[in-house]
Amino acid sequence: MNIILLGAPGAGKGTQAKKISEKCGIPHISTGDMFRETSASGSDMGKQLQSFMSAGKLVPDDLVIEIVKTRISRQDAVSGFLLDGFPRTNGQAEALDKALKASGRKINKVVSITVNEEEVVKRLSSRRVCVSCGATYNLMSNMPKKNDACDSCSGKVIQRADDNEATVRNRLEVYREQTSPLIEYYKKSNLLSEVDGMKSVDEVFKSICEVIGK
Ligand code: AMP
Repeated sequence: MNIILLGAPGAGKGTQAKKISEKCGIPHISTGDMFRETSASGSDMGKQLQSFMSAGKLVPDDLVIEIVKTRISRQDAVSGFLLDGFPRTNGQAEALDKALKASGRKINKVVSITVNEEEVVKRLSSRRVCVSCGATYNLMSNMPKKNDACDSCSGKVIQRADDNEATVRNRLEVYREQTSPLIEYYKKSNLLSEVDGMKSVDEVFKSICEVIGK
């Protein structure tokens, strides 16, 4: 099954994607995670990616599309994948359809997680992540037990450079202008289901499992 998770920054895509990927046995492909990994390598490409990310801007389509095309052609994605954070523009959605068609595949389901923007600003400005395993924490509701050390792997827990309030507001504007039109794009092809992202993690997960038939 090939699934896309859509939703504003902070809607909970990453958290839900990990759970769905485990339940369905398909790889979780997050363009944001791939870019953060490249950026941590300190290469020229990494520095370029970091400059887009820390400004809350989108990485140019041609670059993102090539990376995703290569990733979904890998063996582990041939019988299914879950995309998180891609596509984010019409150009990316069209390129994805074309690439999948060329290999006799298609998107089976698009799940859009809806949230309230002010809630997103609160959620993201208090979000903390583990640099080693990617586990997420929240200063308001889910602190790591030992200050800045991850509960699962003891890695360092930090605030993402793009999770400060000004950048979050910028990312939300980019989402409204460039990504939200994809809701109509996938509605037209009858692939879209919307789930309420304001509920608890478990409730949102239950709704997603229902719409993907798992
Ligand atoms: P995320 O972790 O999905 O919130 O992504 C973090 C940042 O990576 C975004 O704010 C963008 O700068 C960049 N990014 C991730 N996915 C894409 C994409 N599909 N197109 C363009 N930029 C992206």
